[in-house]
Amino acid sequence: MDNQLDCAPGGYFSISESGFVQSVNRTFLNMLGMKSADELIGRHIETVMSPTNKMFFHTYFYPHIQLYERVDEMYFAFRTVDKQSVPVLINGVRQERGGEVVIDCMALLMRKRLEYEKDTLRSKHELEELYKTTREVNDRLEALHEEYESKQQELIEMNRKLETLASTDPLTGLHNRRFFEDCLRGELLASKDSNLPLSLLIADIDHFKTINDTYGHPVGDFVLIELARLLRETAGALSICARFGGEEFVVLLPAVGSEDAVAAAEQIRSVIENTLLGTHRVTISVGVDTSQPDSTEASLLERADLALYASKSNSRNRVSHAKQLAQT
Ligand code: GH3
Ligand code: MG
Ligand code: MG
Repeated sequence: MDNQLDCAPGGYFSISESGFVQSVNRTFLNMLGMKSADELIGRHIETVMSPTNKMFFHTYFYPHIQLYERVDEMYFAFRTVDKQSVPVLINGVRQERGGEVVIDCMALLMRKRLEYEKDTLRSKHELEELYKTTREVNDRLEALHEEYESKQQELIEMNRKLETLASTDPLTGLHNRRFFEDCLRGELLASKDSNLPLSLLIADIDHFKTINDTYGHPVGDFVLIELARLLRETAGALSICARFGGEEFVVLLPAVGSEDAVAAAEQIRSVIENTLLGTHRVTISVGVDTSQPDSTEASLLERADLALYASKSNSRNRVSHAKQLAQT
């Protein structure tokens, strides 16, 4: 064998049709850990294979080369003298030489490539694990986000309820005094901006103490609740009704002048006088004031209260406007 083939960077061996080794290069001997060609020549090629690889060789290599006269890039493994596996890639050609059929084979070591493949597989596996973890973290994040959103929704709802509670009179369900005072401030500013009047009604139940004293506090409560409902229904959607305290109620009428305010108050007074609250009938006295350019929140309240006092002094169950007081 010439020196170039002997030392080629790939193992070369040729076998007879029945598998006996006829020639072999140094590189192939080195792969198998053999020192001299005598160790292999004349022996069957299967002596350097594990039982499993022998079977593989029989099943694939022989039939393939008989059928197609060649084998390309077949993954395979030989066995060294100290029984180590040598992974190789084999190319084989079946041809006639000197009137005899021979099979020439080249075997390229595959160790490094297999290592690379293992590395690639390991990286792929790690990447898959990473993707899995990322997916899990994302799912968790999404769940947390949903939880956060629903909690936030609950909080908004709770705040809304709290706000309503803070601005509502618990007995009658009307707005409370605090809320009313905020409204009065806002509506007075708005009326000045728009140059439209704002009217304020203060209504106080006449002789309410008698109801409590005669029928008891719970009946008094019932009358307050029913009267509040009647007041809200009669005053209309554009008004703002509130319980000012005790048996006193206030009604704000934006964009309503003094005459219409007195008419509205009269309507409320009349409806209450003529409606049975359970089995009870009560009357109210009302004081009205309507904003003027120099009106303040305090002046409106004070003047409406004075008008209420006038209604009370004037035998109750009536409506008085602060404007009339000044005149009389
Ligand atoms: P007037 O015609 O002068 O207004 O007489 P009045 O009896 O209505 O007035 P007074 O101020 O003497 O009494 C008001 C009563 O309202 C006394 C109080 O016990 C009662 N009252 C105040 N708040 C409530 C409440 O929430 N429930 C009940 N049942 N009674 C209340
Ligand atoms: Mg009172
Ligand atoms: Mg009263």
